[in-house]
Amino acid sequence: MILQKKGRVFSGARPTGRQHLGNYLGAIKNYVALQDEYDCVYCIVDLHALTTVEDTLNLRQNTMEMALDFLAAGIRPDETIMFIQSHVPQVAELHLILSMVSPIGKLTELPTFKDKIRDQPENVNYGLVGYPVLMTADIVLYKANVVPVGIDQAPHIEYARETVRSFHYRYNTNVLIEPQMKNTEIPLVLGIDGERKMSKSLNNHIEISASPEETIKRVKKMRTDPNRKLRTDPGNPDICNVYTMHKIFSSPDEIAMVDRECRRAGIGCVDCKALYAKNLNANLAPFRARRNELAKNPSYVKDVLDDGARRARLIAEQTMIEVREAVGLP
Ligand code: SF4
Repeated sequence: MILQKKGRVFSGARPTGRQHLGNYLGAIKNYVALQDEYDCVYCIVDLHALTTVEDTLNLRQNTMEMALDFLAAGIRPDETIMFIQSHVPQVAELHLILSMVSPIGKLTELPTFKDKIRDQPENVNYGLVGYPVLMTADIVLYKANVVPVGIDQAPHIEYARETVRSFHYRYNTNVLIEPQMKNTEIPLVLGIDGERKMSKSLNNHIEISASPEETIKRVKKMRTDPNRKLRTDPGNPDICNVYTMHKIFSSPDEIAMVDRECRRAGIGCVDCKALYAKNLNANLAPFRARRNELAKNPSYVKDVLDDGARRARLIAEQTMIEVREAVGLP
């Protein structure tokens, strides 16, 4: 039986190379699940990456590694359109057209712009200001109804909705779709430092495609309850990131055991981490096996991305015909 899908989802992800647990739990698992309910368009946004210098290093390699992770995790390229942003040049044209209805004052007030100029004061470029306009172009070019977002991205989607309304008002048209936000509960995955969000740039991450041995090494470095100095000290799992991860990857009995035994010093952190690492490796084993298989055929990922771009361009060009007509371009 063919199920009627609820509409079209769009999401873009910066090409950050091999994905880590934070990416996996925060985005990739959701991407995979959404395929059951929506027609999905997933874009690796390489043009967005150009706004920050470090993201442009190894751009091609990072794009391919990321696509490989997506496919191994369960993105189905026969249904889902997965492609590279710059392979659909219409997005640059729509970005330019939408920039005409994008007030500078509003763009520079967005929290993410303020964060960026704080992070890279030596490189406050035009692309940073126009980032939400390009993001809007990404979404509306594919006539997406729904955009899954975490709370930090919500202002950008609100901005996209306003831009669509401004465009419709300015050109007396209704050719674009005002996207709806789909709030996604994105778990905050802390890095192995136990303090900051997991991030490659902070080197506090665990790659999902790492070998089991490397995973064990990284897990061993995880910070635990800072008040538990000795093996004989009782611990508090509620403030320990290892316990948080047990709750995701371990069985109910194991979670209960860690909760109980940690509090009465019945289990040491070394054993507790070993158990977590074992369960994490077991959980990721099928993904890693698929990834290794896919990696043996390097042209496969390229073919998937080429086919995705071809299908994306068909939608994009149709939208642009309508947009050019609405704007009155000769
Ligand atoms: S026993 Fe486990 S939950 Fe308790 S402090 Fe150590 S690592 Fe954390």
